[in-house]
Amino acid sequence: MDQIQTFFGYHHALVQLLRHRDFGGQDKRSKLEALSALCGDLLEVDNVGVWTSGISGNSLSRVLTYRRGLGFDSSACSLSREQHGPYFAALDAAEIISAEDAATDPRTRSLHQGGPGREGIGAVLDAPIFDGRRLGGVIALETGQRRSWTLADISFVTAIADTISLINAHEAWLNSRKELDYITHHDDFTGLLNQRSLRNHIKRLIELDGNAQPEPFALLWIDIDRLNAINNGMGLHVGNEVVSEIAARLRGMLLPGKELVARVGGDEFAMIYRFPKEVGTMHGAVDTILETIGHPIMVGEQKVQVSASIGISFFPYDGNDISTLIRHSESAMYHAKSCGRRQAQYFNQDISASAKARFLLEGQLAEAIAHDGLSVLYQPIVSNDGQRLVGAEALVRWRHDSLGFMSPAEFLPLAYEAGLIAALDQWVLERVCRDIQESRRQELMLPPVAVNLSADAIMDPLLSDKVWALLERYQVVGEQLELEVIEDAIKGDSRALRQTLEELVRMGIKLSIDDFGTGYSSLLRLKSLPFTKLKIDRSFTKELPHDVDDCAITLSILGLAKGLGLEVVAEGVENQEQEAWLQRQGCNYLQGFKYHRPMSIEQFRELLVTA
Ligand code: C2E
Ligand code: CA
Ligand code: CA
Repeated sequence: MDQIQTFFGYHHALVQLLRHRDFGGQDKRSKLEALSALCGDLLEVDNVGVWTSGISGNSLSRVLTYRRGLGFDSSACSLSREQHGPYFAALDAAEIISAEDAATDPRTRSLHQGGPGREGIGAVLDAPIFDGRRLGGVIALETGQRRSWTLADISFVTAIADTISLINAHEAWLNSRKELDYITHHDDFTGLLNQRSLRNHIKRLIELDGNAQPEPFALLWIDIDRLNAINNGMGLHVGNEVVSEIAARLRGMLLPGKELVARVGGDEFAMIYRFPKEVGTMHGAVDTILETIGHPIMVGEQKVQVSASIGISFFPYDGNDISTLIRHSESAMYHAKSCGRRQAQYFNQDISASAKARFLLEGQLAEAIAHDGLSVLYQPIVSNDGQRLVGAEALVRWRHDSLGFMSPAEFLPLAYEAGLIAALDQWVLERVCRDIQESRRQELMLPPVAVNLSADAIMDPLLSDKVWALLERYQVVGEQLELEVIEDAIKGDSRALRQTLEELVRMGIKLSIDDFGTGYSSLLRLKSLPFTKLKIDRSFTKELPHDVDDCAITLSILGLAKGLGLEVVAEGVENQEQEAWLQRQGCNYLQGFKYHRPMSIEQFRELLVTA
C-alpha cells in the first residue's frame, strides 16, 4: 500500500473511533485507552504509552501503557528532566521524536540506557501533547526492534497527540465550569446556596413540568435580630462568627420537611419547607428553628446569644410567582420584628399594606436625617425646689410632609429597625452642639443639655471619637453636654463599652441612666460604670403618690441612688402632688409639664433670658 493510502486508512480508523457513539460519553481514562490501543494495533508497535507532564514541567509520569497483546499497564513510573535532558528539550521544542534506533539517537539514548518504564527499546516514535503553550505530556510508541518510521506513522501519532490535547482542554473547561457553577450558586462565606439558587429552586417547584399540580410549600425568611448592634458593639469578627455558626446550624439541623437553606443577605437566610400539610407541623418547625438559633454561641471566650425573626409565606396562597413569594415572606419577617422580634409571623394582606407604608417611611426618615429634616426641642429640668433651671433634655422631632409632627414613639422604632438610629442620634448631638455654639454667639450660656443615646449609638466603638470631633468643631466643652443611656443598652458587658463611657467622662461629659427601673441592671454593674445620674421613668411618677407600688419603687430607686452616690431626676412631673412627694423624698431634679413642655431653641433662649 502506498504511503497515502496507509495514511488515509489510519485517519479513517481514528475518525471512526472518535465518532463512535460511546466514545464521547466516556471518561478521560477510557478515551486514552481506546486511543492508545488503536495506535498500537494499527501501527503494530509493542507499547504505546501516554505520559503526563508534572506541574513544574520537569518530569513526565505515566498515565498508562498499552502493551499489545498484553493489555494496559498503569503502574507508576516517571522520567525526570535531569536524567533525560535532550529528550525533554526536544519535546519542549515541539519536535516529533522519530528514532529509528533509540540507542544511537542523542534524544533517546538516555531512555535506551534503561531506567524504569522504557527499558529495552529498539525504536521510538514520540509526539508531544501540548496544553496551550505548555508541554502537557507525550504519547510514546516503542518497538523492541529497530524500525524506520513512515510519514503515515508520524502523521498518525501527531493526530493522536492533538486529539489528546483536545480531550485535556475539554476536561479543563468542564472543571472550570463546575467551579463557576459552584461560585454562581453558593454563598462563598457560608457555603450555603445563594439567592439565585433559591430562586431557581422555587421556579422548579412552581413550574413543575407536565400537568401535575405543583405541591404547596412554605418559604421562610429568617433574619438574625440586631446583628448590627453585635457588629458595632463586639466587633465585626464576632458578627461574622455568628453568621457562619447560624448558617452551619440551619444547614445541619434535622427538620422533617426542610428542603433547602440559602443565605440571601448579610444576616438573612431563607428556607423552603415542603408539605406543611397542617399548620401544626409548621408551628413545630418554626419553634425548632428559633430554638436552634437561640442556643448561645461561643466566640472565643465570649458567649453571644442571638435570636431571629421569621416571616413565612405559602405557595400558592400568598403568591404564585417567585418575586411575590419572596416579597411576602420578607414583609412578614419585618412584621415579626416590629412585634418584638424572636418570633415568626405568617404573611397576610394587612402586612403587605403596612410593609409598603413602612418601607416608604423608612426612606423618608433616612432622607430627613441626611438633610436636616428633623428638629430638636428642649425640655428644661429644674432643681428640687422647682425654682432653678439647671439643665434641659434634647428631644427629637420629625415633621413629616403629610403626616405632620410625629412623636419619637412613632418613628424611633422605625429608625431602630432600619438601622438609622445611630445616625439619628448623631444628628441630634450635632444639632445640640450647633445650638450651644449659636447661643454663645448671642452671649447666652446654655445650661448642660442632655442628649438621648440609643443602644446602637452607645455600642459604636467610634462614638467617643465622633463626640470629640463635634466638641472640637463647635467649640463646645464637655461639661455642656450630658448623655442619657437607657438601662438595657448597657446590660451587655464589654470592654469596648466601658472604654467608650470612660472616654466620654474624661471629656467632661456627664452620663445618666435613663428610664431607670424599667430594665435589668444589676447593682454591682451600676457601681462599676461611670454614671452620675439616674432618671426615674415617667411610668413610675405618673401615679405618684396614690399608687402604692409606684411609691415603693420610686423610694427604692432613690435609696439605691443615695447608696451609690448618684443624683436622681424624676420625669413626667405634672402636678403639685407629685412634686411635693418627690421633694419630700429628696429627689434632686424634676422634669415635666408642670414646669415646662419641650420647646424650640428660640423659646428656650427666651426663657433663659427672662428667668
Ligand atoms: P424619655 O427620654 O423618657 O423622654 C421624656 C419623654 O417624656 C419626652 O417624650 C417628653 O416630652 C415626655 N415628657 C416630659 N415631661 C412630661 C410630662 O410631664 N408629661 C408627659 N405626659 N410627658 C412628659 P418624647 O419627646 O415624646 O420622647 C419620647 C422618648 O423618645 C424619650 O423618652 C426618649 O427615650 C426618646 N427620644 C427622644 N429624643 C431622642 C433622641 O434624640 N434620640 C434617642 N435615641 N431617643 C430619643
Ligand atoms: Ca431621656
Ligand atoms: Ca423616660
